[in-house]
Formats: sequence, C-alpha cells, structure tokens
Amino acid sequence: MNEFELIKHFFINEQNRLCNSSTQIDVSIGDDAAVFSLKDNQQLVTSVDTLVQGVHFPDNTSADDLGFKSLAVSLSDLAAMGAEPHSFVLSLTLPEVDEVWLSDFSKGLFGLANRMGIKLIGGDTTKGPLTVTIQVNGTCESKRYLSRTGAQDGDHIFVTGAIGLGALGLYQWCEKKNGNDCSEALERFLRPEPRVEFASGLFEIGVSACVDISDGVLADLNHILTGSGLAGEVECSKFFMHQELLDSHLDIENILVGGDDYELCFTLPASKKEALTKYAAIFDFPVQEIGRVYKGSGLNVLGPGKDCAKFENLGYQHF
Ligand code: ADP
Ligand code: MG
Repeated sequence: MNEFELIKHFFINEQNRLCNSSTQIDVSIGDDAAVFSLKDNQQLVTSVDTLVQGVHFPDNTSADDLGFKSLAVSLSDLAAMGAEPHSFVLSLTLPEVDEVWLSDFSKGLFGLANRMGIKLIGGDTTKGPLTVTIQVNGTCESKRYLSRTGAQDGDHIFVTGAIGLGALGLYQWCEKKNGNDCSEALERFLRPEPRVEFASGLFEIGVSACVDISDGVLADLNHILTGSGLAGEVECSKFFMHQELLDSHLDIENILVGGDDYELCFTLPASKKEALTKYAAIFDFPVQEIGRVYKGSGLNVLGPGKDCAKFENLGYQHF
C-alpha cells in the first residue's frame, strides 16, 4: 500500500464522509490545501499538538486509544478558548505501514471526530518514529473567546472534573497495576474527554480567563496568573477527590502536578458564581471552586492543614 492508497483507505474513508459536519468545506483532502469559509462575524481559532511515542504516550499504547487521544488533546485546547470545533488536519509519521494498526487508529480518531461533528480536511504522511500531530480549527463569534489573560483581582478559581486521575492512570499503565481494566483513572488517561460542550457556555456566564490542564493544574493555573499579572491562592482541600485517588498511593503533590488531566481551570467574578452553579449542574462531572485571584504575583498553595505547601515543580516540564 503506497502513501496515497493509505490516505484514501484510512483517512478519506466512510467514517470521515459520514460525519454530520454542519460546516461547508469547499476543498478537502486531495488538493494542495483545504479551503473553507467562516460565517460573517466569526473568528478562526486554531491550535496544534504533537504526540511523540515514548514521550507523550507509552510505547504500548493501542492504536485505537492513540487515535482518540491525539484528537482529544487538541480539542481540549479549543475548549480552553471556548471555541466550537470546525475541522482538523493530521500529520502522521509512521515507522511502517501496518494496516491493522491504521484501521484501529482511524477507528479511535473518527469515533471522537464524528461525535464532535468535525471532519478531517488534510494532512501529511511520512516515514519515521511514530509521531502524531493534529491541528484543530474552531470558530467563535467575534471577540467571544476565552484567554489566559483576562483574570481580575478578586475572581474565584474553578476546575472541572477529578484532577489527578490522569496521573494515576499513567502510573497504573506504566506499572501494569491495571488488573482492573475499568479503572476510571486509566480510562481518563487513555481517552481524556475534552470539555468542549461545557466550555461553550463559559463566555456567556462571564468567565474571565481559562486554560486547559495538560501539564498539571498548578502549572497551568500559573499561566493564567502570569498572563493576567496577578497572584493566586488555592486550597488543596477544595479539590474534588475521586474515590480511586483516595484509594491510591498518590499524595496531593502527585495529584496537583501530575498533568494529563485535560480538564479546565478558569476564573470568574464572585457575582457570576450563581449562574455558574446552575450551568454546571447539567453536566455529569464536578465543577469545584479551589481558590482566589488577588493583586501581586505568585501562586500560594495551602495544604490540608492550611499550611503553605511547597512543591519542587508546579508541573510537567518538557526540557
Ligand atoms: P502535498 O505534497 O501537496 O503537500 P501530499 O501529497 O502530502 O500533498 O498529500 C496529498 C493530499 O492528502 C493532501 O490534500 C493532504 O492534505 C492529504 N493528506 C496527506 N496525508 C494525510 C493524512 N494522514 N490524513 C489526511 N489527509 C492527508
Ligand atoms: Mg502540494
């Protein structure tokens, strides 16, 4: 199977055609570039992520899970911006053409893409060490996007979901202590759920800044604080603790700096808290208030006994 047969078979396949995308795409896979128009008064929101085998995912990750996760982490960035997913581009570097692997990969990929109503509109295929790069395109109404820089003095800080499950899932996967295949931690690590639908209502509610949590909640919250020129304080005791975390050996530092959560962390003025509580009630995951933003700089973490916790690193560092 050559490069073009591969693209045709696995990526212009039935699943990509079936996708019920509401957006008009004039030129898609097969030309030198894709072409699509945005509706009047819309802005393009775009983001790219690369996943390298052995660095961003363990060597023995299944192709199906990898297809899902590669798209999920990019969609998580769109969620952080409050954008509506539109389409995506896939750059795939493969050591060899393994048709079973490619079929499983595209199953995981299109499973999520079709659920999100987005189409694959182009890409690149090369030979080399297994690497997946996905660029996602999204849209927002003019100027109605969330960013890291809008937090205000006095805002409250919130997070979605059970922070730490991603780190626990990675540990279970690596240690092969995953005898229990239906552990939620493992599921969250292998197939994180991008909070796209939840994020779509946040601008309207009055969220002032937002970030998705990939490197660890403290490290990513710190991006909001430095981006907004403010200080923050969070209390460890306010995080939602999933039973699997309570039953695990992970301590609070592992949980807060572990990363791979793909949840959202955002700030909101106190006056909008009631609206947020009502809105959050329609989703099936917790939304917890974890702290406050105030004038100054730095992030203060209050440990379980309200003492100041000192962590060596706030999160995962690539270099
Ligand atoms: P070019 O050489 O002009 O950049 P290519 O020969 O690399 O184009 O690719 C041919 C077409 O197939 C292009 O439209 C490209 O976007 C698409 N394509 C290549 N690889 C993939 C892939 N993995 N998934 C989806 N589309 C792809
Ligand atoms: Mg070309």
